Amino acid sequence: MEVALPRCTGCAHCKDVCPVNVFDLRPREQFAGVVDDPEVAAKFQFRAERSLVVNGPECIVCAACLYECEGECIRILDSEGHEHRSVYK
Ligand code: SF4
Ligand code: SF4
Repeated sequence: MEVALPRCTGCAHCKDVCPVNVFDLRPREQFAGVVDDPEVAAKFQFRAERSLVVNGPECIVCAACLYECEGECIRILDSEGHEHRSVYK
């Protein structure tokens, strides 16, 4: 699984809802060279951090993060090879 960093606003919703602690928030300075996606920037405020996948294999594909991700930037490949993408409610 992965987070498309240019689209991550740092809203922290992923970390808040994930039952198995897949995500962690890191300061934006750690992502030097990542340019904010203008489509997301037009809709949301970028915060001081971005989300990083730190426990990807623990994901149970509950889909909670997929409905809470402002930037629609989370992509999960499940064990059967199916792709799941975040769509903000
Ligand atoms: S789909 Fe995976 S990463 Fe997302 S909240 Fe559920 S367990 Fe966590
Ligand atoms: S929910 Fe999406 S936009 Fe918000 S911090 Fe997590 S990955 Fe970034």
